[in-house]
Amino acid sequence: MTPYEIIAQKRDGQTLSDEAITFFIREYLNGGVKDYQMAAWLMAVYFQGLNDAETYALTRSYIDSGEVIDLSDLPGVKVDKHSTGGVGDKISIVLAPLVASCGVPVPMISGRGLGHTGGTLDKLEAIPGFQTQLSVNQFKQLLRQIGVAMIGQTDTIVPADKRIYALRDVTATVESIPLITASIMSKKIAEGIDALVLDVKVGNGAFMADIQKARKLARKLIQVGKAFGKQVHASLTNMNQPLGRAIGNWLEVVECLEVMQGEGPADVVELTVHLAAHMVVLGKQAATYAEATALCRHQLANGAAFEKFLQLVAAQGGDTNFLEKPDQYPAATHHYIVKAPITGYIQALATREIGLAAVQLGAGRLRKEDPVDPAAGIHMHVKIGDHITAGTPLFTLYTNKSTVIEEVNQKLLAAVTIGETPAKPEPLILEEMASE
Ligand code: URA
Repeated sequence: MTPYEIIAQKRDGQTLSDEAITFFIREYLNGGVKDYQMAAWLMAVYFQGLNDAETYALTRSYIDSGEVIDLSDLPGVKVDKHSTGGVGDKISIVLAPLVASCGVPVPMISGRGLGHTGGTLDKLEAIPGFQTQLSVNQFKQLLRQIGVAMIGQTDTIVPADKRIYALRDVTATVESIPLITASIMSKKIAEGIDALVLDVKVGNGAFMADIQKARKLARKLIQVGKAFGKQVHASLTNMNQPLGRAIGNWLEVVECLEVMQGEGPADVVELTVHLAAHMVVLGKQAATYAEATALCRHQLANGAAFEKFLQLVAAQGGDTNFLEKPDQYPAATHHYIVKAPITGYIQALATREIGLAAVQLGAGRLRKEDPVDPAAGIHMHVKIGDHITAGTPLFTLYTNKSTVIEEVNQKLLAAVTIGETPAKPEPLILEEMASE
């Protein structure tokens, strides 16, 4: 078995054995498979796919490349949530403390924003002092003490994915269902979970623009989770417009504070409660989805989720004063209002472009090494279906980079479709899929 033969077999659409996949990944990390060979193999997988057994073998090889966190000495069913990424998706920040406040331990390892999508770590790091780079021991200690921890990827967990993802990113091989599945599930399984809720985004701001592809991805993620003995629930949810009204790291934290204090945009509340309720059922703290929903709503309304969030922030070194008094946070120097050019109904929003506009203001990064500005971002005054009159605000921009404002203004005007007739409302939660 040589790297050449394994690449050629996949190129020709043959099924690879467990041994071939294990060998190929192991040798890549040992230097026996070169970057150009891995790149060729990834492109072969992109076109030929991997069947269930091959995807399982790839996930297994990824997991075996590093450390697997053992949480078996912690009581309770450990449940995490993973989103495939969107714009304005701040759900984890409310959901993790909310679910922990219901008695379900939440070991959450999140990523950073890249391209048009935001990342939970960048949002948490907008809170001054908040530490996301904790050791595995500190992670376990927090879970034991407060039932929740939110940290970043460590170098020891799934190092194979770290290297291969970087290669996929520059070889146009990210958008492959089996490669995405192995990448996501290996990291989640290595984190020590018992069960997982997936938020698979569908729409013009998501990885998967159409529902058929999203279903296929969800099915594969569930199937691999099941093969590793994990219960997985997937919700397919709408990403044809940003979630909530805030896009940008600190702005999104503020929106989360509103939700945790019983207010906030209806879509953020609805999706948070929905995903949290599925976690609470998987975590065996409620017998049914209806019971779990009622419990989650109660924990938001009575301040228990907010209380847990304050505990989490304090335990991870964050300054809770800004959470009590968000007005004292250092604001961006420039505020600019994008106004509606005509009167009519908001019929569509180009979500990806809105996410990229926020990046240009400083809220995100196009390359992994770029810095982010926590104060930068966009407040959306409109959602699909709203009626607006010419001259009323569509977006407020927050930035410390005055030179980009005019270009972003033009981009955002192009991202909004305004028409004479109301748009047909689209549901936020589209479909549910789960392992039996
Ligand atoms: N997120 C991941 O972690 N991996 C992928 O391949 C795609 C999205």
